[in-house]
Amino acid sequence: MAENNKKQIKGPPASSHSKVWRHFGFYETVDGKALDKDYAICKNCFAKIKYNSNTANLQMHLVRYHGELLSGDNEGKPSQPTIITAFKAKLPFGSQRAQSITKSIAHTAWSRMMDFAECWQHWNRDTRY
Ligand SMILES: [Zn+2]
Repeated sequence: MAENNKKQIKGPPASSHSKVWRHFGFYETVDGKALDKDYAICKNCFAKIKYNSNTANLQMHLVRYHGELLSGDNEGKPSQPTIITAFKAKLPFGSQRAQSITKSIAHTAWSRMMDFAECWQHWNRDTRY
Protein backbone atom coordinates (compact mmCIF):
# COMPACT_ATOMS: atom_id res chain seq x y z
CA MET A 1 0.00 0.00 0.00
CA ALA A 2 1.30 3.44 -0.91
CA GLU A 3 2.37 5.67 1.91
CA ASN A 4 0.04 8.56 2.42
CA ASN A 5 1.65 11.97 2.77
CA LYS A 6 -0.87 12.90 5.41
CA LYS A 7 -0.18 11.82 8.94
CA GLN A 8 -2.54 9.15 10.20
CA ILE A 9 -5.30 10.19 12.50
CA LYS A 10 -5.58 7.88 15.51
CA GLY A 11 -8.01 7.65 18.32
CA PRO A 12 -10.54 8.48 19.61
CA PRO A 13 -9.83 8.08 23.32
CA ALA A 14 -11.30 4.82 24.57
CA SER A 15 -12.79 6.60 27.56
CA SER A 16 -14.92 8.89 25.42
CA HIS A 17 -18.36 7.93 24.31
CA SER A 18 -19.27 11.24 22.75
CA LYS A 19 -20.57 11.06 19.20
CA VAL A 20 -18.17 13.78 18.11
CA TRP A 21 -15.34 11.24 18.19
CA ARG A 22 -16.75 9.71 15.02
CA HIS A 23 -15.37 12.82 13.35
CA PHE A 24 -12.17 13.44 15.30
CA GLY A 25 -8.94 11.74 16.27
CA PHE A 26 -5.38 12.67 17.15
CA TYR A 27 -2.05 12.71 15.37
CA GLU A 28 0.83 10.90 16.98
CA THR A 29 3.49 12.91 18.71
CA VAL A 30 6.74 13.45 16.77
CA ASP A 31 8.38 10.41 18.38
CA GLY A 32 5.34 8.28 17.52
CA LYS A 33 5.03 7.00 21.08
CA ALA A 34 1.88 8.79 22.10
CA LEU A 35 -0.99 10.83 20.76
CA ASP A 36 -0.79 14.59 20.63
CA LYS A 37 -3.85 15.36 22.68
CA ASP A 38 -3.39 19.13 22.57
CA TYR A 39 -5.23 19.12 19.27
CA ALA A 40 -8.01 16.98 17.91
CA ILE A 41 -7.98 16.50 14.16
CA CYS A 42 -11.16 16.70 12.14
CA LYS A 43 -11.41 13.60 9.95
CA ASN A 44 -13.47 15.56 7.43
CA CYS A 45 -11.27 18.58 6.77
CA PHE A 46 -8.09 17.84 8.80
CA ALA A 47 -8.52 21.01 10.82
CA LYS A 48 -6.58 21.10 14.09
CA ILE A 49 -8.93 21.96 16.93
CA LYS A 50 -7.58 22.89 20.35
CA TYR A 51 -8.61 20.09 22.67
CA ASN A 52 -8.81 20.56 26.41
CA SER A 53 -10.46 17.39 27.66
CA ASN A 54 -13.97 18.37 26.68
CA THR A 55 -15.69 18.13 23.36
CA ALA A 56 -17.27 21.58 23.24
CA ASN A 57 -14.78 22.98 20.70
CA LEU A 58 -15.11 19.87 18.58
CA GLN A 59 -18.89 19.99 18.70
CA MET A 60 -18.77 23.66 17.64
CA HIS A 61 -16.50 22.81 14.72
CA LEU A 62 -18.92 20.13 13.50
CA VAL A 63 -21.91 22.41 13.80
CA ARG A 64 -20.13 25.25 12.06
CA TYR A 65 -18.42 23.41 9.23
CA HIS A 66 -20.07 20.03 8.91
CA GLY A 67 -23.64 20.57 10.03
CA GLU A 68 -24.87 18.21 7.33
CA LEU A 69 -23.00 15.34 8.99
CA LEU A 70 -24.73 15.78 12.31
CA SER A 71 -28.25 15.22 11.04
CA GLY A 72 -27.57 11.52 10.44
CA ASP A 73 -26.03 10.91 13.84
CA ASN A 74 -29.19 9.65 15.52
CA GLU A 75 -29.79 6.88 12.98
CA GLY A 76 -33.50 7.46 13.03
CA LYS A 77 -33.82 7.02 16.76
CA PRO A 78 -35.80 9.76 18.46
CA SER A 79 -33.65 11.46 21.04
CA GLN A 80 -33.40 14.63 23.02
CA PRO A 81 -31.80 17.44 21.01
CA THR A 82 -28.26 18.23 22.03
CA ILE A 83 -27.66 21.64 23.51
CA ILE A 84 -26.04 22.70 20.24
CA THR A 85 -28.96 21.70 18.04
CA ALA A 86 -31.38 23.20 20.54
CA PHE A 87 -29.63 26.55 20.31
CA LYS A 88 -29.38 26.31 16.55
CA ALA A 89 -33.08 25.67 16.09
CA LYS A 90 -35.07 28.81 15.43
CA LEU A 91 -38.58 29.29 16.65
CA PRO A 92 -41.05 30.59 14.12
CA PHE A 93 -41.29 34.36 14.43
CA GLY A 94 -44.32 35.37 16.47
CA SER A 95 -44.96 31.85 17.74
CA GLN A 96 -46.41 31.57 21.21
CA ARG A 97 -43.19 30.03 22.55
CA ALA A 98 -41.05 32.77 20.96
CA GLN A 99 -43.28 35.45 22.44
CA SER A 100 -43.20 33.84 25.84
CA ILE A 101 -39.38 33.65 25.79
CA THR A 102 -39.07 37.26 24.63
CA LYS A 103 -41.45 38.38 27.35
CA SER A 104 -39.53 36.44 29.97
CA ILE A 105 -36.17 37.90 28.88
CA ALA A 106 -37.62 41.41 28.76
CA HIS A 107 -39.10 40.99 32.22
CA THR A 108 -35.81 39.71 33.66
CA ALA A 109 -33.86 42.53 32.04
CA TRP A 110 -36.36 45.10 33.29
CA SER A 111 -36.36 43.81 36.87
CA ARG A 112 -32.53 43.68 36.91
CA MET A 113 -32.46 47.27 35.70
CA MET A 114 -34.85 48.21 38.47
CA ASP A 115 -32.57 46.46 41.00
CA PHE A 116 -29.65 48.34 39.57
CA ALA A 117 -31.51 51.65 39.63
CA GLU A 118 -32.41 51.08 43.27
CA CYS A 119 -28.81 50.26 44.18
CA TRP A 120 -27.64 53.32 42.30
CA GLN A 121 -30.08 55.53 44.20
CA HIS A 122 -28.95 54.11 47.56
CA TRP A 123 -25.32 54.42 46.62
CA ASN A 124 -25.84 57.98 45.43
CA ARG A 125 -27.70 58.93 48.58
CA ASP A 126 -25.34 57.13 50.99
CA THR A 127 -22.15 58.48 49.49
CA ARG A 128 -23.23 62.06 49.21
CA TYR A 129 -21.28 64.36 51.47
ZN1 LIG B 1 -13.71 19.76 9.86
